[in-house]
Amino acid sequence: MNEIQLSKRLEKIASYIPKKTRLADIGSDHAYLPIFCMLTGKISYAIASEVIEGPFEKTLAQVDKNDLKSYIEVRLGNGLEAIFLDDEIDVITIAGMGGILIAEILEMGLQKKRLNGKERLILQPNIGESYVRYWLMNNDYQIFVEDIFEEKQKIYEIIVAQKGIAYYSEQELFFGPFLIEEKKEVFYKKWECELINRRKILNSLEKATIPNQKKEEVLQKEINWIKKVLKK
Ligand code: SAM
Repeated sequence: MNEIQLSKRLEKIASYIPKKTRLADIGSDHAYLPIFCMLTGKISYAIASEVIEGPFEKTLAQVDKNDLKSYIEVRLGNGLEAIFLDDEIDVITIAGMGGILIAEILEMGLQKKRLNGKERLILQPNIGESYVRYWLMNNDYQIFVEDIFEEKQKIYEIIVAQKGIAYYSEQELFFGPFLIEEKKEVFYKKWECELINRRKILNSLEKATIPNQKKEEVLQKEINWIKKVLKK
């Protein structure tokens, strides 16, 4: 069998997948994650799904190259439409997309009854993490792990959730309920950058000829939150 060298990001995601589980990797692209999990004996079965023909072909080719066609099913489909309750999925990974898209995929999956309620959700939004947390809280999913780390000058967050009732404050949804508690160095680094970005946007909004008071208020509120959180 071939070996796959995973990025730190995908390796971290893999570390939250329990052993001997059935995985659905939505938006799998190259299928590195399910292939790695299968080659290392972590999972027993996987569905690798893609919505676009090109990445779908790439996923198929990678699975074939690794002789894993009997263990990893590659499916073409939009989000969670690619999986069914009969698949008895234990873990769903949705990684490398924006938070809004991840929340939309989860919402559509819920509407179309593709979530069995027992699965662990491992979500890695590239941006817009708060949209994912809102969706989880509003649909009775409880976050039980959060991770933040840097790879190649990019900061990533991972959110792991399971069915359960939880209430998160506005600030917990914004920063992450665990991340705001732990406050790792990389958390400070992320929010220092976010503070600079927001100040720049607010500055240009204040100078704009057409005022956008609502947006300015939101930015000012977030700036105040970030300044408070950054105080060591
Ligand atoms: N998950 C991999 C990772 O984290 O390395 C690939 C990330 S790649 C940047 C995002 C992939 O998600 C693309 O291949 C894209 O085609 C796929 N995608 C986007 N929207 C999707 C949807 N609604 N359903 C399934 N796949 C989707």
